[in-house]
Amino acid sequence: MTQKIAVLPGDGIGPEIIEEAIKVLDFLNTDMALGLEFEHGLIGGAAYDETGSPFPATTVELVKQADAVLLGAVGGYKWESLDIAVRPEKGLLGLRSELQLFSNLRPAILYPQLADASTLKSEVVSGLDIMIVRELTGGIYFGQPRGIRILENGEKQGYNTLVYSESEIRRIGHSAFRIAQKRNKRLCSVDKANVLECTELWREVMSEVGKEYPDVELSHMYVDNASMQLVRAPKQFDVMVTTNMFGDILSDTASMLTGSIGMLPSASLDVNSKGMYEPIHGSAPDISGQGIANPLATILSAAMMLRYTFNIGAAADRIEQAVHDALDANVRTADIYSAGMQKISTSEMGDTVVNALQAGVK
Ligand code: NAD
Repeated sequence: MTQKIAVLPGDGIGPEIIEEAIKVLDFLNTDMALGLEFEHGLIGGAAYDETGSPFPATTVELVKQADAVLLGAVGGYKWESLDIAVRPEKGLLGLRSELQLFSNLRPAILYPQLADASTLKSEVVSGLDIMIVRELTGGIYFGQPRGIRILENGEKQGYNTLVYSESEIRRIGHSAFRIAQKRNKRLCSVDKANVLECTELWREVMSEVGKEYPDVELSHMYVDNASMQLVRAPKQFDVMVTTNMFGDILSDTASMLTGSIGMLPSASLDVNSKGMYEPIHGSAPDISGQGIANPLATILSAAMMLRYTFNIGAAADRIEQAVHDALDANVRTADIYSAGMQKISTSEMGDTVVNALQAGVK
């Protein structure tokens, strides 16, 4: 069976890092007969320059037809003064809403070889491997009514609405339980059920959904405690699932535990696990065109795509192991370089991962 991947390199370092991810996928495609097919498209500033839109109709069609999307990054100095409606970032938002990507997966993985990059003690974070599943299309960021109004006494008042329906909670719940099933089968649902009725319902529905996944151990935690536990003892977690706003904050905390932005992948999934996969970092215009960007976050995003959309865990495992092996070989791009290591370029890092795949056990 063929699997169609829409490849959207985007702007800045996007094309450089995507090239390396494709190198890795190409190797596995031949080696494991995965049946992957790639079709390139435009997004962000590159799309605006060519078509006047950051998410042109041809790209909309391409991503709708594809089984998964692999994206580099969008944005850059060149487009900062454009009208907000056509800024590169609008392309990304358009893509998320077009594909109804409501489940945002943000792993925080700290390779033992990079433990010194974290601001936390190495014994607290070394070997960290957690996954935060954030609800992406509901909650207080979208709830109505919202705004700033003038009160009778003339004072201004800002207000937003935290709202989740049972079906929205159930949908993200199923997504998170399925992810936990592919990992260590422990899921922690994060809420503020002691204060917010909306998340009291969140907790109730999560518990209900949990009955359908008896192989996954479900626990609940208040968000204030979760934020504390994430920096106190983060390795206690496997998968965490939470609301849009709590997830926004907790996933940034979790990613910074690792200290290396060039290493972290992400995924955004729809109800059928069709997904968009991208590194968490941006287009890094300060280093673009120099061949020094770290391609590992994008290569690891490709691994997530194989695991979560295509259900080829064995291929994903091989990529993740090859990244381990590359780091063990003491080669580093500039962003993760430390004394005693060999500094290498973006494409040399891609080659090192391919060589590790070639050398590794199938
Ligand atoms: P950024 O993530 O692009 O860069 C932050 C810093 O990290 C920079 O010093 C950069 O050189 C470095 N960095 C990032 N990725 C790296 C990599 N793979 N290897 C080595 N170093 C890396 O964030 P920013 O500077 O705030 O934003 C730059 C542009 O990217 C802006 O236009 C912003 O809107 C856009 N952006 C896009 C996305 C996305 O496409 N999903 C996400 C965040 C920011």
